Parts: sequence; structure tokens; C-alpha cells
Amino acid sequence: MIKTLETEIVIVGSGPAGATLAKELSKRRKKVVLIERGRREIKLGRMKDGLRFYEKHTFQKSKEGTVLYGTNMVGGTSVVASGNALRCSQKELLDLGIELENDFLEAERELKAAPLPDKCISEGARKILESAQALGLQPKRIPKFINPEKCKICGYCVMGCRYNAKWSAMNYVDEAVKDGAALITQTKAIKVLTAGGKAQGIEAAGPDGPIKIMSDIVIISAGGIQTPIILQKSGIINAGKRLFCDPWMTTYGITKNLNQVKGVNAPGYVLKPQRFILFPVIDPPVQFLLYTGRRSLFGRFPRQKALGMMTKIADEPVGKVHLNGCIEKPITSKDKEKFKEGNRLVKEILIKAGADPKSILTIKQIRGPHPGGTAAIGEVVNNNLETAVKNLFVCDNSVLPEAPGLPPILTIIALSKWLSKKIASI
Ligand SMILES: Cc1cc2nc3c(=O)[nH]c(=O)nc-3n(C[C@H](O)[C@H](O)[C@H](O)COP(=O)(O)OP(=O)(O)OC[C@H]3O[C@@H](n4cnc5c(N)ncnc54)[C@H](O)[C@@H]3O)c2cc1C
Repeated sequence: MIKTLETEIVIVGSGPAGATLAKELSKRRKKVVLIERGRREIKLGRMKDGLRFYEKHTFQKSKEGTVLYGTNMVGGTSVVASGNALRCSQKELLDLGIELENDFLEAERELKAAPLPDKCISEGARKILESAQALGLQPKRIPKFINPEKCKICGYCVMGCRYNAKWSAMNYVDEAVKDGAALITQTKAIKVLTAGGKAQGIEAAGPDGPIKIMSDIVIISAGGIQTPIILQKSGIINAGKRLFCDPWMTTYGITKNLNQVKGVNAPGYVLKPQRFILFPVIDPPVQFLLYTGRRSLFGRFPRQKALGMMTKIADEPVGKVHLNGCIEKPITSKDKEKFKEGNRLVKEILIKAGADPKSILTIKQIRGPHPGGTAAIGEVVNNNLETAVKNLFVCDNSVLPEAPGLPPILTIIALSKWLSKKIASI
């Protein structure tokens, strides 16, 4: 016999979206079950930890070779985030009738989003930001959800924070559980159960076999790649189109004596809205070696003397996630123009900051950290984030119709807070 549970609301996925929904709805005394495919990871902060929780224990790639990030664990991809708390898509969502100002303010307060003090910023990153200023690019310090008192400046935010200095959606999951939500881990939602055009619950696979969770309301928050797969399996066949991923490329240059190793990544940024954002960043050692290859191995490209910057663009939403998990994500000619312009500025900044012009190396591997768009408002969900199936909602990066080209966690949290109020009143 298939194990069956009953609840009022089932939420799939415990990333920033699912965790916020669970927290807000259980605070409002709703009976919530939150199911998560991954585990609660205890060991964080090292390369081998990082690899364990990425999709397929490595990095999933599109057919064209772009890496598409997503982690399977309690807290979702926020656990490996760099801690950047920028608002994005606020105006676009307002144009769709979704007013988020108060929810943004609440999220910023809860995450204590603020720029970091100088002690957390490496000499190299500081020099990069000064050089961008000297070139008239008006760099700004970025608000972070990192507590500078606890931060040990190890530079490994993207492997998860072992010092508990960085906020992650795990914090919200804990609050939800305290308020009565049931968290079921290592359980993968397969599809939504429906009858008469209405959601009835979900079918999932757990460590002890299949499980059904019957509920009046179902919310899918499994991230930009997995959400459309669950929807397609549930008969919503127009999900999976319009994939964007805010892809990035990294450029490095070697200096005489400056480095970025002892500091948090991306303490500041240069922004050209709707085109690109530029951040000072340096890859963790194994990735640095992997991407700089023979130059590193033969000692010509020492990480300790490298300055690095990322060009992250707002890409065209032309990708697709197929039912069988295959992903298409072409980089269009418009995307290539944005990369060209951003990379040219990055090169200028790095040289101004002291990098040897002959050493400048732009890594060819394109990486997409924010997959979304695959259940877009206006296409797959309406502006209440409800699908054509009554009481089946989607809330995560998938519902954004256009690539923000900016870190989306704050927006996802604000949107989830907004939706919680709507759902609580059903
Ligand atoms: C290296 C890196 C750094 C980043 N830094 C930042 C940053 O500084 N600031 C920022 O704003 N953004 C950052 N991002 C992006 C940000 O982390 C994501 O955009 C955000 O976490 C997406 O939230 P989500 O809730 O949509 O999905 P996710 O966080 O991906 O959560 C989805 C959850 O659903 C679970 N799940 C998937 N399928 C199923 C299933 N079938 N059944 C049950 N559970 C399932 C997954 O295991 C996961 O826990 C970064 C991303 C990366 C990769």
C-alpha cells in the first residue's frame, strides 16, 4: 500500500521560495508539508562538500555546453550563494499587478542586507572597485546577507558557509518547522495529482518507496529546471519554455603582488541595467585550476596573484527544459554582444588595477547561476501565480518572464511573501 499523508498545503522544494512560503504560511497557522529532494547538509564550506550537493554531484550542462547550477539540499541553491541581496524585476512585476515594496523591505530587514565593512574586502577587490571608479563606471558596494561579525573571510561562500555567517533558506526552513511545518527530506515530487481541473496533492518517491501527499493547495518551488519538469509530468505541457539563466563569464589577469583570495567574492559591482553586471570574483582553487588549465599548472598563472571579474548578462529567454531533463540554452547574438561589451570593460578595469595586459585570460566556459523563466507569468501561471489547474501554484525563479541579469534571491523571497498572504486568505 502506498503511504498517504494529508495536509492543507504541500510545498515542493525548500530553496528561497519554498522555505519562505513554508515559514509565512505556518506562521499563519496553516498546516504545511514541505518536501525536499535533498538532505539537510551539515558539512559545508569545502570543495568536496560543494560537489556533493550539486545536481548529479557535478554540474548539469545544456546541450550547447552552458553549466546550469542548482543544488539539491535543504535550503536549495541559496546555501551556495555569494550573499548578494539586490532587488530585481520589481518594476516588471509591478507592471503585472504584483506590488512588492513592503515585502522587499521586510525581506531586507530579515536578511539584515547591508554592505560589508572593509575588513571583509580583499586588497585586490578594493583595487578593482577603485579602478572602476577612476574609469568613470560608478561602482557601488553591494548589500550582502552575511554577518561580518561571524565571517572568517575564508572566500568559500559558494561551497556553503561553515561559520553560519551567511543567511540561507535553511534559516527559514527552521523557523517553519518551529511553527509546525512538517519537513520531509530525500523525497522527490514526481507529479501533481489532479481531479476535475483541481489540485489534489502530489505523488512523490521517498527513501521508503512511493508516497502520496493529499492537500487542497499545491505549490511547486523546485527551481527553474526541476519545476517545469514536474509541471510537464502533471500535464502542463507549455512549461519549460523561455529558459534564461543570467549566464556569466570570468576574466583573470596576473598582477605583481595583489590578490583577491582573502576576501568575500563580489563586495561591489558595476551595473549597466538590462545588459550586464560586473563583479570582482575569483574561483575556488580547484575550479581556478580547471579553468585556467596549463597556465596554472606551469606556474605562469598563480591564483595568489590573480585579479578576477565576472561579466553576468541578462540573456534572452530562448532556452527549453524538456520532460526528459534535456536542456537547450543557446547563447544568442544579442547575448554575445553583451558579453563582448562587459568583457571589454572588465579587461580595462583589471589592467587599470595592475594586471599585466599580456596575462588577461577570459575563461571560455559559460556558467548560468539563475535558471528561470520556465513557468513564466502570462504563459504558464497567471498574475496570482496559479496555473490552469485550480489551486496549483508555482513560486520560484521559474515565474519571472524575463532574465533580471541580477541576483534574484531577494525578489524570490519578496514574491513568496506576497503569495503567502494570498494563499492564506483562500
Ligand atoms: C554559485 C551561486 C551563487 C549564487 N549567488 C547568489 C547571490 O549571491 N544572490 C542571489 O540573489 N542569488 C544567487 N544565486 C542564485 C540563487 O541561489 C538562486 O537563484 C535561488 O536559490 C533560486 O531559488 P529557487 O527557490 O527558485 O530554487 P532553488 O534554490 O534551486 O531551490 C529548489 C529546491 O527544490 C528542490 N527540488 C528540486 N526538484 C525537486 C523535486 N522533484 N522534489 C522535491 N524537491 C525538489 C531542490 O533540491 C532545491 O532545494 C547564486 C547561485 C549560484 C549557483
